[in-house]
Amino acid sequence: MELKTLLKSHNFACSKRYGQNFLSDPQLLSAIASDGAQSGDNVLEVGAGAGTLTRALCGLGARVTAFEIDERLRPVLSETLAGTDAELIFSDVMTYDLSLLELGKYRVVANLPYYITTPVIFRFLYDENLLSLTIMVQKEVADRICAKEGTPDYGALSAQMQAMGNVRITRKVPRNMFFPSPDVDSAVVRLDIQPICNRALLPHYRKAVAAAFAMRRKTLANNLTAAYSLPKQTAEELVLKVCGNRAARGETLSPADFVRLAELLTNV
Ligand code: SAM
Repeated sequence: MELKTLLKSHNFACSKRYGQNFLSDPQLLSAIASDGAQSGDNVLEVGAGAGTLTRALCGLGARVTAFEIDERLRPVLSETLAGTDAELIFSDVMTYDLSLLELGKYRVVANLPYYITTPVIFRFLYDENLLSLTIMVQKEVADRICAKEGTPDYGALSAQMQAMGNVRITRKVPRNMFFPSPDVDSAVVRLDIQPICNRALLPHYRKAVAAAFAMRRKTLANNLTAAYSLPKQTAEELVLKVCGNRAARGETLSPADFVRLAELLTNV
């Protein structure tokens, strides 16, 4: 059944508050499912919606566990997911105790509700069982995630995600592919987890990145002085060691440079 007809038959009106912009094009759905998973994978989906992506993932042969916050979608999902073995959890993915799932190694595949894009990313990013994250996000967010150092889009989100592995945009999705159509275009980003440093260093890496981008107009040394209560001269020497320029700004450091900086900062 066509998506609009299905929603109408259940008297369902999409909620802006929950970021309900649904996909219905079968080709696009199976392309996104294949961007993120393959047969036999354990897949966690955030926001089943009307179950269209869930179905596509099941169609690939993935074992799908899908979260959905909106109880009103229960009858819709019973219809669209009939005959699949998707497991549905009607709960807020941000507060659910994920350790109850016992998924083992898993992949996240989701057309994310835009109002919680970044919190959802960080909910999963550092989980040791996560193999990959394939998410539909606003095009601008996708550009920021994949931006290279020294470019205007590069920031804390780019450095945090690129530290966890290889990121790439797998496809761009124009706004008219959604119902209802949002005000922005979107893109699917895939991150394959392969941390660029020891996991034990990651908390230090995160702190260094947060400090570096705390005030973009300040030099990195000034930001480090503030965040780590360091003498200015010590901060400048660290920056000099990492990138050869004591007046450098945070946005010029690559993820590998941040690893070096985080290592040096653990010893001051
Ligand atoms: N996967 C469907 C699709 O591609 O058409 C729906 C995607 S829609 C952009 C996002 C879905 O996430 C909505 O159905 C919304 O109700 C759900 N959602 C929003 N916040 C959520 C949360 N905190 N936990 C679980 N689901 C949530």
